[in-house]
Amino acid sequence: MHISDSNLVAAMTALGVEVRPGVSLAKETSLGIGGTSDFLVIHRHDALPELVGLLRGARVPYRFLGGGTNVLLPDGELPWVVLQLARQDPDVRFDGNYVDVDCAADLGRMVTTCAKHDLGGMEGLIGVPGTVGGALRMNAGAYGTQIGTHVREVKVYRGATGQIEILRGAQINFEYRHTSFAPDDIMLAVRLELPSKPYREILDGIRICNEKRRASQPLNQRSAGCIFKNPPGGSAGRMIDELGLKGYSVGDARVSDRHANFFVNAGNATAKDMLSLIEYVRGRVRERYGVELEEEVIVWKEP
Ligand SMILES: Cc1cc2nc3c(=O)[nH]c(=O)nc-3n(C[C@H](O)[C@H](O)[C@H](O)COP(=O)(O)OP(=O)(O)OC[C@H]3O[C@@H](n4cnc5c(N)ncnc54)[C@H](O)[C@@H]3O)c2cc1C
Repeated sequence: MHISDSNLVAAMTALGVEVRPGVSLAKETSLGIGGTSDFLVIHRHDALPELVGLLRGARVPYRFLGGGTNVLLPDGELPWVVLQLARQDPDVRFDGNYVDVDCAADLGRMVTTCAKHDLGGMEGLIGVPGTVGGALRMNAGAYGTQIGTHVREVKVYRGATGQIEILRGAQINFEYRHTSFAPDDIMLAVRLELPSKPYREILDGIRICNEKRRASQPLNQRSAGCIFKNPPGGSAGRMIDELGLKGYSVGDARVSDRHANFFVNAGNATAKDMLSLIEYVRGRVRERYGVELEEEVIVWKEP
């Protein structure tokens, strides 16, 4: 979507919002899929209520993007402008065992920064790409760790009220790759509480998780991590593998040869290719196992 109203652009710029017209979203996502749209980079949290007010007033639909590592965006011109938080410096601050982190911070870098302060508990998250905000939205997790366990407070822009609020950890449900944040909430910052642990011990844990990841995932190919959530008590990857679908392709969208629940962009895959592959695999799993797989990747559907 392109904003052609110069008064609106000027009002957004006055809020410190950087307006980047006609950005290729394929370059902003780990899958390398997505069309174009105007991109609005927010430098100050407190500008959000007014920014959203302006967009709503002008009937400009918007979506929020973190690091782009868990999304499948449509091809062509997107029907939304895309909002993103600018990185802050510093983006991690320490207060004993509490850590205040800006949601635009890189998740992996946050884990290693905490390790250097002898704060652990998040070793499993080390290879999860993307931002801290994206991890909160998805309750990202791996190897027995999930971010929600450590959340004490979240500063969030609430779409419903148009206000920035502080939510206590106990007010938020963190489940397997699901949270109780509303779809139009935008997380801005989080306070985590982490256990004290010697740096060396944390590094050992990180090394083990990195090795496991390197041994099982196609890390040199473009993907969005696991495409499907695991069904209760089961493994989506194992079912897809048992169906002999590793390497199966639609156009350049392909089931990874290395990890059957990773679908990769093996060239110039389109959203249409990837969606067809998702539906095909879902159908085969339904047919054989009677299980309806739910996507873990967030598909931005056109209205
Ligand atoms: C190689 C690879 C390995 C991966 N391994 C794992 C893994 O082990 N475990 C795991 O859980 N995930 C994994 N993922 C998926 C992904 O990295 C995580 O889900 C990550 O937390 C997404 O963060 P992001 O900033 O990239 O979010 P995005 O992809 O940008 O966004 C995902 C969704 O969250 C929303 N969102 C993002 N930031 C905010 C915010 N601040 N406020 C409100 N909404 C927001 C977006 O609107 C979107 O709907 C992997 C991905 C890749 C490519």
